[in-house]
Amino acid sequence: MKKRKPKRKGSGRIWLILIPVLLAAAAAGFLIFNRHEVRIELNGEETVDVEYGNSYQDEGAEAYYHETLIPFLHKELELTTENNVNEKVPGHYTVTYRASFRNLSAEAKRKVNIVDPEPPVITLVSDPEGYTPFGHKYEEEGYSASDNYDGDLSDKVQRTAYKDCVKYTVSDTYGNKTTVTREIIYDDRRGPEITFPQGEAEETVFVGGTWYNDYQAVDDVDGDVTASVKVDGSVDTSSAGDYTLTYTVSDEHGNSSEISRLVHVKERPANNGAAGEDSKTIYLTFDDGPYAYTEELLSILAKYNVKATFFTTSAYPAYAYCMALEAQQGHTVAVHTETHNYAYVYASEDNYWADFSRQNEVIAAQTGSYSNMFRFPGGSSNTVSMNYNSGIMSRLSQQAAARGLIYFDWNVSSGDAGGTTDTEQVYQNVIAGIQACSRSGVPSVVLQHDVKSYSVNAVEKIINWGLENGYHFAALQPGSYAPHQNIAN
Ligand SMILES: [Zn+2]
Repeated sequence: MKKRKPKRKGSGRIWLILIPVLLAAAAAGFLIFNRHEVRIELNGEETVDVEYGNSYQDEGAEAYYHETLIPFLHKELELTTENNVNEKVPGHYTVTYRASFRNLSAEAKRKVNIVDPEPPVITLVSDPEGYTPFGHKYEEEGYSASDNYDGDLSDKVQRTAYKDCVKYTVSDTYGNKTTVTREIIYDDRRGPEITFPQGEAEETVFVGGTWYNDYQAVDDVDGDVTASVKVDGSVDTSSAGDYTLTYTVSDEHGNSSEISRLVHVKERPANNGAAGEDSKTIYLTFDDGPYAYTEELLSILAKYNVKATFFTTSAYPAYAYCMALEAQQGHTVAVHTETHNYAYVYASEDNYWADFSRQNEVIAAQTGSYSNMFRFPGGSSNTVSMNYNSGIMSRLSQQAAARGLIYFDWNVSSGDAGGTTDTEQVYQNVIAGIQACSRSGVPSVVLQHDVKSYSVNAVEKIINWGLENGYHFAALQPGSYAPHQNIAN
């Protein structure tokens, strides 16, 4: 500072020269460096993020015309705004502002991002009491997924099962990903299930009969635990009475099960045959055999000491020996025809009686005696015979009487000839038919076929039902009740 003072004292003339020079330089600088321009200033941020679901409010901008060296002397301008922001679709948008004045113009842009930061929500269904038995696979209880933008995403969930958990993952359209994990709870809270595979919880057996104590226990975790079952009680089949058995078993996690069974041991009802015939008599009859199921049928009948009637053919000659067994075991062996061929036997009376006689020869050879009992193929009311010979059924039935032969139709049909192939249905048909006959005060003559396994399989149940309901079984005899259907040809 001290050094400058002497210079100022002698500078008057210099200023006279210097001032115009400086003014000229300033004017030149203003002309050179000053610029006219249009400028746009955004209100708010250059980049705006808006969460999907909210609305976007544009804050606008200001536009000016001014000179760069004297910006405070500006002029405000109108501007146009191009705003294509779609709030309903997440994405990146640009808002453009434009202004112009004379031949000058400017443009400014603002970035607007409609963003979806919200991931989908996965909801698991689970039973708070539920669990997976040890050693079992987890059974899916259900899940759903929804998203603020995509809506229901349940179908898009990726499910991965691991040993101890299940992972569920889903992403929305904008890549937001959600994963939830379900822990699998393994436990064992259920005792073994005790069942009677061949029998029932309540059974009947006749004095002197054989009762099988069959049972099975299966645990959901331990598997077959039949060997661990403890049975309390026993059944004495030599003495009539009611016997209760209790079966108990525990699994390895201490869950125990108990089940009871009631066995009635009853005196065996008498099967007296024709002598005791009444509305409670059941005549089981079997047509068309013998065949592959006949021996099995005979063993069922023997088990219950039930006598039955066989209207036989020689359609399966390899089984002809069964006729001998039938006779030996006290059943009635009667004629159905040798061939069971409608076209042949109903073509003429001669054919019929020739065929009949050949079968009776087979019966005599097997059993030692001829039969005077028979059943017409199709029954006496069949109309198929019309195709071969008009009126033949009327003539055959009269000729039978003249020959001293007795024919038997039936009044209970099992439906096994075509109505059903279901054992349970055969059983239902038969017992319904028997009950109807009994109500009408007549014995039941039941039609079954020992060439149909599903029909033979119903016999034991039919016998049990009959015996338990006060019926008795008998084989047809020449004097037995013989239902006759109405002859239609
Ligand atoms: Zn037949």
